[in-house]
Amino acid sequence: MTRDALLDQLHTTFGFSAFRGVQEQVLARVMAGQSTLAIMPTGAGKSLTYQLPAVMLAGTCVVVSPLIALMHDQLRAATANGIRAATLTSADMDRAETIERFRAGTLDLLYVAPERASQPHFRELLTTAPLSLFAIDEAHCVSEWGHDFRPDYRLLRPLMDAFPDVPRLALTATADRHTRADVLTQLGIGEDGLIVAGFDRPNIRYAIRHRDSLLQQLKTLLAEQPGPGIVYAPTRKKVEELAEKLSAATGRPVLPYHAGLDPQVRSANQAAFVASEDMVMVATVAFGMGIDKPDVRFVAHAGIPKSIEGYYQETGRAGRDGDPAVALMLWAAEDFARARHRLAEVEEHRQAGERTRLDALAALVETGACRRAVLLRHFGEDPPQTCGNCDNCLDAPGIVDVTELARKLLSAVYRTGQTYGFGHVEKVLLGQEDERVTARGHDRLSVFGIVGSDEAPLLKPLMRALQARGSLVPTEHGGLALGGDARDVLKGEAAVLIALQPRRERSGRSGRRE
Ligand code: ADP
Ligand code: ZN
Repeated sequence: MTRDALLDQLHTTFGFSAFRGVQEQVLARVMAGQSTLAIMPTGAGKSLTYQLPAVMLAGTCVVVSPLIALMHDQLRAATANGIRAATLTSADMDRAETIERFRAGTLDLLYVAPERASQPHFRELLTTAPLSLFAIDEAHCVSEWGHDFRPDYRLLRPLMDAFPDVPRLALTATADRHTRADVLTQLGIGEDGLIVAGFDRPNIRYAIRHRDSLLQQLKTLLAEQPGPGIVYAPTRKKVEELAEKLSAATGRPVLPYHAGLDPQVRSANQAAFVASEDMVMVATVAFGMGIDKPDVRFVAHAGIPKSIEGYYQETGRAGRDGDPAVALMLWAAEDFARARHRLAEVEEHRQAGERTRLDALAALVETGACRRAVLLRHFGEDPPQTCGNCDNCLDAPGIVDVTELARKLLSAVYRTGQTYGFGHVEKVLLGQEDERVTARGHDRLSVFGIVGSDEAPLLKPLMRALQARGSLVPTEHGGLALGGDARDVLKGEAAVLIALQPRRERSGRSGRRE
């Protein structure tokens, strides 16, 4: 197969004139029958790397994809390009016809869910049809190290092993080094089959701020960004609430999107967003997967994402057209507290992994260094120390060593019995007497009044930072207790540095000058 033949087909089927990034590298392997794991960021054009071979090779490419909605999106897009494609899911009424076409070798693509792929009768079906390729979408789902483990993905390897002559193409946007190695093993792909695309999205300006006043901060962002944008909110209720408030406060067209909405409303809202040039979609993370809208100008997080992978994927929906775009995360200590609390509910063998993920996210939030550098290093790249296009590069925050103050704060939490909230502990540290302080005898503690007025303004950001890194954890009744490395800090064995951001009222787009 020559390069010209590939380019011809690219043009005929998709109307594109050139390959992007690593697409060509991936295609070369696939066309040569070599199994491959391609790690490509969202928007890099993963689908094309199996769809083009599916069209050019004899037989059918079986695509394993985790979500029915995603499959149907893909099916629509492929069919629109004249590719002979079908889905085989419980939601399809035309299954008998699809099986017929599959056996007759007249399908280029057959999308199936992993549950089906792992059933014995599906294996039998595969023996009766000509196969060209196995494509495994969202391949990180096969690894327990990934953030989205799906046990059914584990059954794909035995299935594919039964067809040793059919090459495999695993695709994912999100895999750290650890997960990558695991995906290769779990899917039976050799190490030489790994292709990693660059993760940098230079046109996205990253900014991460403390959530002082959510509505005000979002209003500022919307005022600076007239184009379409997405605001991610953590719950359905928050989505509804925020959509209403933003609409009232800004006059911009704003729509909600979450899995609890009527499917018709959901798809109508999605279609309206895709068609719009100034709409703001307030959504849960359910929104965005498989949506093809290149001109999204901003993605805001009204709370922390699940992980750095999640953050990268969600922010990656901005600026796919290559024009400047903004990613703004607004975080609060309570987000981390809640996430750490939820760790206890995770199955035991996954807790360590989840905790590591949360720590990595906390480090990104807390860093005074280049955000992009932290992100790219997380994905195994070796980026320059500064990028010039993130909040910290554009407006370097002051880095303050607050180890001593942290020891005072932690010891006040400890000495007051690890049951009081920040307000009370702060009063004790600042030496402010009130009824509760004197009634509990906290005015007689050695920590009473040991923080001077010069350090007072640092207490709150310090408390947030300690919560983000888990050294302070909330109790069930809204108090604070020691956690994580608190004892190391108290013993003087761990340092605490915080980045103080001087820019309160700005949201991310404006540069160094106000
Ligand atoms: P991913 O699955 O990696 O997030 P998609 O496969 O959805 O990305 O592709 C993202 C967008 O890029 C789509 O609009 C697709 O049509 C477009 N695209 C893919 N490859 C090319 C190419 N070689 N030239 C131009 N556009 C492309
Ligand atoms: Zn930077």
